[in-house]
Amino acid sequence: MIKQLVKRGFASRWGWRLAGPILRRPGVIVLTYHRINGVTRDSGRDTLAGMAVEKFAAQMRWVRDHCHPIHPDEIRDHVTHRRMKPPVLVTFDDGFRDYHDLAHPILKELRIPALVFVATSFMDEGGLLWTETVQWAALSTKKSRVTLPWSGEQVPLPDARARDALGEKARAWLKAVPDGERRAAVDAFVAETGAPPDRGREMLSWDEVRATLDVTTYGGHSHTHPIMSRLDRAACEREVRTCRDRIAAETGVTPRYFAYPNGRPADYTAETQAVLHDHGFDIAYTSSEGIAGAGTDWMAVKRLPSEAPQLADFAWLAAGLMRS
Ligand SMILES: [Zn+2]
Repeated sequence: MIKQLVKRGFASRWGWRLAGPILRRPGVIVLTYHRINGVTRDSGRDTLAGMAVEKFAAQMRWVRDHCHPIHPDEIRDHVTHRRMKPPVLVTFDDGFRDYHDLAHPILKELRIPALVFVATSFMDEGGLLWTETVQWAALSTKKSRVTLPWSGEQVPLPDARARDALGEKARAWLKAVPDGERRAAVDAFVAETGAPPDRGREMLSWDEVRATLDVTTYGGHSHTHPIMSRLDRAACEREVRTCRDRIAAETGVTPRYFAYPNGRPADYTAETQAVLHDHGFDIAYTSSEGIAGAGTDWMAVKRLPSEAPQLADFAWLAAGLMRS
């Protein structure tokens, strides 16, 4: 209760101006977004739902008023500068269609640049990210129990919560196995749950990518969204090269920024970083939480999650105070 009042005061114009420079960690606040949703869903358990567009718009207005939104090319210049308004870089992972439909109009109106990391096979071929396919297969199954193809374990599914937990469990297992094994296991899992209903096209098309280039820089996020650390060198090179070449061919701009799929320290290696470097990528973003300050490792830049219940919590988060 008191904490919420403190947070609310902090998020206000004067609170942020006065307390911000003292409390805030210096450096660039790199915000991470994924899906933005047009309808406010409060099921809470639909992990595919994304952030309500109203919440996103409120966060962006707050950023416009209280921070200094920067272009992705400017990040190196801002990590050490101390300014009244903290520099903020807005990033999106994966390349969902709702970036074009819902997020881009807001960013354009507010003149906030964004860096969007796309996994290019989905622009080329359609389909869903494999992690989303697995979650959707689990959420939409009609079965009352399924057998995990990799262990033979029987998982009872009495309710929506159990189905959601099944998706989480399956994804965690699949992220940890070699990529070739993972692909076959995803197919087996989807087959076991029964074919999930079609969600329609959910990822950006190349036309939509081109239509948003005014405020958007496109970065790489691999071709098929594998866990990079589970690839051998040849496959890693293929993922990075294909992704880079497809973005360059479709937008006319060769990408120099990359975000690791999943982005935890276990999801990329020194070899991944070497391959990226060889292919002209000079900044790579992770999902590790933190502010990009002085001494940032440019091949492992930290970011902040954007999911916060209230704007006051978002300001708290943006200040690098996280969950304290
Ligand atoms: Zn991703």
